[in-house]
Amino acid sequence: MSARVLDGVAIAAEIKEEVGREVRSLAEAGAVPGLTVVLVGSDPASEIYVRSKVKSSAELGIASNLITLGVDTSQAELLGILQQLNEDDAVDGILVQLPLPRHIDTRAILEAVDPLKDVDGFHPVNVGRLTIGQESLVPCTPAGVMQVLQRSGIAVRGRDCVMVGRSDIVGKPMSTLLLNAGATVAVCHKETRDLREYTRRAEILVVATGVPGLITPDMVAEGAVLIDVGINRLDRREDVERLFPGNAAKLAAFDKRGSVLVGDFAPQSYLRSSAYTPVPGGVGALTIAMLMHNTVKAARMRRSLPTDV
Ligand code: NDP
Repeated sequence: MSARVLDGVAIAAEIKEEVGREVRSLAEAGAVPGLTVVLVGSDPASEIYVRSKVKSSAELGIASNLITLGVDTSQAELLGILQQLNEDDAVDGILVQLPLPRHIDTRAILEAVDPLKDVDGFHPVNVGRLTIGQESLVPCTPAGVMQVLQRSGIAVRGRDCVMVGRSDIVGKPMSTLLLNAGATVAVCHKETRDLREYTRRAEILVVATGVPGLITPDMVAEGAVLIDVGINRLDRREDVERLFPGNAAKLAAFDKRGSVLVGDFAPQSYLRSSAYTPVPGGVGALTIAMLMHNTVKAARMRRSLPTDV
């Protein structure tokens, strides 16, 4: 049986098209959705992320705005800006790009965002609402994984699912979404004594650890669905040779660019699966699409409109 590739880019394009339609219909009703992204400091990776978030949102007709603040911005100043954004009726979604500089308490900042405008879904109110199955703004990456499963016709109810990783932004909300959808879920992490014992039992195995190639073929059940959330850049040729033995195309790509992206699964693991998300081109493509989805959802929630986008 050959494994089906779950094409995150195509699914993201489908979602963006739907969100674009929603944006147009809200705009016709005089309510253009607005998204403001706040970046503190000049971390190069964060700058790339925020520009791409703002650009993609603008392309769909969302009124997008980027506020860039110096690295020395105080916590009080940032809280003041968030207060203004919370009160601004034209702003439906607020996203504070992480990580924040060390002198700022990230928790205090995330809690200062109005939960109804919290398009990252990190506010404790949204975390709590998700946990008890109430309508909420859901963190973009796990919400994107659910879209991949649903739109690929992969049933979750009653399945044995294993989540490797327990971060607040991926692992925990992902395990909650799977649980809420009727799966039996085990959550593994660094303290898990025998990781393989769990992963081998998974019908759907979701991995978000940031450890390239952590999951090897012997850790995967034949025919499992593999969701690879990890995005890791390899910049040493010997690591590429180890993870992609005999793969001339990958080595050529490395020689051309000086690095390649890999997920948390050793690529040979995919061969045992019935379906998998590739890296790149899998889950990563969904995150920005879900941010825009959340912006429209926030706009509708604030206006007490149905949120079936
Ligand atoms: P974190 O570092 O916050 O969390 C990693 C989790 O993996 C932790 O729970 C950790 O366990 C667990 N872990 C690490 N090593 C092992 C191991 N050897 N065995 C078992 N568990 C392990 O990372 P994130 O959740 O933020 O991100 C994870 C990955 O997903 C990264 O590669 C990141 O780049 C990617 N990512 C991709 C996104 C996308 O858009 N597709 C968005 C967000 C992240 P413990 O808690 O015990 O330390």
